[in-house]
Amino acid sequence: MQNLRQLFLNHLGQTSSSPMLIEIERAQGIYMYSPTGKRYVDLIAGVSVSNVGHCHPKVVAAVKEQAEKHMHLMVYGEYVQSPQVLYAQKLTALLPCSLSSVYFINSGSEANEGALKLAKRYTGRTEIIACKHCYHGGTHGVLSIFGNEYYRNSFRPLLPDVRHINFNSFDDLSLISNRTACVIVEPQQGEAGAIAPHNNYLQQLRKRCTEVGALLIFDEVQTGFGRLGYLFAFQKYNVIPDIFTIAKAMGGGMPIGAFVSSQEIMSKLTYNPVLGHITTFGGHPVSCAAALASLEVILDEKLIETVDTKAALFRKLLAPAKIDDIRGDGLLMAIELGSPERLQRFIKAAFEAGIATDWFIFCSSAFRIAPPLIITESEIEEVCSTLIKVINNV
Ligand code: PMP
Repeated sequence: MQNLRQLFLNHLGQTSSSPMLIEIERAQGIYMYSPTGKRYVDLIAGVSVSNVGHCHPKVVAAVKEQAEKHMHLMVYGEYVQSPQVLYAQKLTALLPCSLSSVYFINSGSEANEGALKLAKRYTGRTEIIACKHCYHGGTHGVLSIFGNEYYRNSFRPLLPDVRHINFNSFDDLSLISNRTACVIVEPQQGEAGAIAPHNNYLQQLRKRCTEVGALLIFDEVQTGFGRLGYLFAFQKYNVIPDIFTIAKAMGGGMPIGAFVSSQEIMSKLTYNPVLGHITTFGGHPVSCAAALASLEVILDEKLIETVDTKAALFRKLLAPAKIDDIRGDGLLMAIELGSPERLQRFIKAAFEAGIATDWFIFCSSAFRIAPPLIITESEIEEVCSTLIKVINNV
């Protein structure tokens, strides 16, 4: 067979002129393996996806079992499919009663698209407010709210009536008005470089949205499923959004997402127009079965309870390294190295040393630590001792 890397370059649409070209043949737990058997620690969990680790046996078993019963049957929302129903029941039982209705979709971007449409439909308003340096996905609607002009500009015209505010700015809350359909926010900004909310910023944001009748949407695509030490970040920060969106870790490695809201708000998708949101594959039964198994693993193995201790251990062990800062809550951390050049040298050397990490879309001088939540304390010690050597050498 022709060299796989060359075929990858020849036949897969590329989005960068210098892809990393790391070839992975299999993955298990926190590790990924190349065809020659080189082992990498997946320090970013495939970008906050593999919270239960790669190929968790319970997730794999659920996938096999459902695939043998049935795969796709009919577009979303027509047939009663037990994997969807059982998952929605399990999830909503863990949420406040105002978040009891789940619309399944395929990805984080689509979940946010659905949430924005729902907010416009429910409020009858048009203005969408998002934060500078936010990331909500790559489709056209969420590209319109992308928190950075460089990434938006070449695709204009985009959605009108979008306004950006500064995350953590109390002054900017006054820009939210009775024209605003919704404010969409990551409770901890991910791609901005793991920026946690200050003090009671999210509470004040909630208060302002309620005052003016705007819906508050939390994008929990990256923060969900235990990453910040709570099942969802809104529980950590004690603020209940009107809609929240999930994806990434939801499927335990399978593609799935959802937006979740109240019955009252969600009911607006049933009329004027009917079929207010449509998807063929959203809530795919195999993905829902994987999602249920993954959620059960997170709860049964008490992974969430371990997050703060593991995050504190990373911080303690990395503190003596030559770094400028450690940001972020829970196991979504940014380690600041001071310059893009140093970061690039670090990422390359980390891969050579068997650690897979990444930078952030809007922060090119810090690397990401967002490992599978199953990582053990002794694995953290081993990883940190390698990281320190690499960091201090670049
Ligand atoms: N929202 C956030 C906060 C994300 O981090 C991402 C993905 N990095 C998305 C949305 C988009 O999700 P997807 O790539 O599944 O469309």
